[in-house]
Amino acid sequence: MRRCFIAGNWKMNKTVAESLALVRELRGAVSMVRDRVEVAIAPPFTALQAVAKALEDSNIGLAAQNCHFEGSGAFTGEVAAPMLKEVGCSWVILGHSERRQYFGETDEGVNKRIGAVVKAGMLPIVCVGETLAEREGGKTLEVVTRQVKGCLAGYSAVQGEKFVLAYEPVWAIGTGKTATSRQAQEVHAHIRMLLKEQWGAGVADQVRIQYGGSVKADNAAELLGMPDIDGALVGGASLKVADFAAIVKAKG
Ligand code: PEP
Repeated sequence: MRRCFIAGNWKMNKTVAESLALVRELRGAVSMVRDRVEVAIAPPFTALQAVAKALEDSNIGLAAQNCHFEGSGAFTGEVAAPMLKEVGCSWVILGHSERRQYFGETDEGVNKRIGAVVKAGMLPIVCVGETLAEREGGKTLEVVTRQVKGCLAGYSAVQGEKFVLAYEPVWAIGTGKTATSRQAQEVHAHIRMLLKEQWGAGVADQVRIQYGGSVKADNAAELLGMPDIDGALVGGASLKVADFAAIVKAKG
C-alpha cells in the first residue's frame, strides 16, 4: 500500500522570517494526518536550516528544491547534496520543469544529481512532464518515457524503491489549468509500466508517483482518488496554510 505523499514546493518565495511564520501555522494544520499522509515542504535554500529546527517533532519532512551533482568543488552559486543533508533535508526535488526551462537542466543532469542525492543519504523527487506543444502534438507518452528512462538509467531496484516521481505537465504548472484526473491517470499508469520494465512489478508497485500542476483544495480529492496517483507536488497552493492543509486532508 503506497502512503499518500504531499510535498509543497515553495519555489523562490519566503524569507527566513516568513518561512518560520508559515511553518508555525502549518505544523498544527497538518498534524492530524500523521499516519495516513506523508507531508514535506521545500523552502528556499536560505531558510532550510531554520525551518529544519522549526519542524522538529512534527510530521513534516524537509526537502530541497535542487542540488548540484558534485559533492563539493569550484561550482560558484551551487549547493551540494551533503550540505542539504547536513541541514536536515530528507528529499531533493530534481528536474523541475522550471529548472529545465530556465536553467537548461537535462535528463542526463538529473540522472547525475540523483546519484549525489542518494550518496548523501537522501531521496529524490524526480519531476517529468510534457509541454503544451508536446501534448497537442500527441507526444506526451513519448516525452515522459524519454524523461523517465533518462533520469533513472543505471539505478537499481533497491535504490529505486524509495524514489518518488512527480508527473507535472508543464502547461499545468502555475497556470490554473489542471490535467483532468483521467489525463493524469493515463500518464501515471504509463510511468508505473516504465518502472515495472526497469525494476520489476514489486518495486513499481511501491514507488509513489505524485501529480503536480495547479493542484488546489477543490481538485485534490479527485486527482488523489485515481489508482496510480499517490500524492501531489504543490506549488502555489503550498504557500497558503489553509489551502495546503486542505490538500493534505483531501485523501479522505
Ligand atoms: C510546482 O511548482 O511543482 C507546481 C506544481 O506548481 P503549481 O502547483 O503552482 O502549479
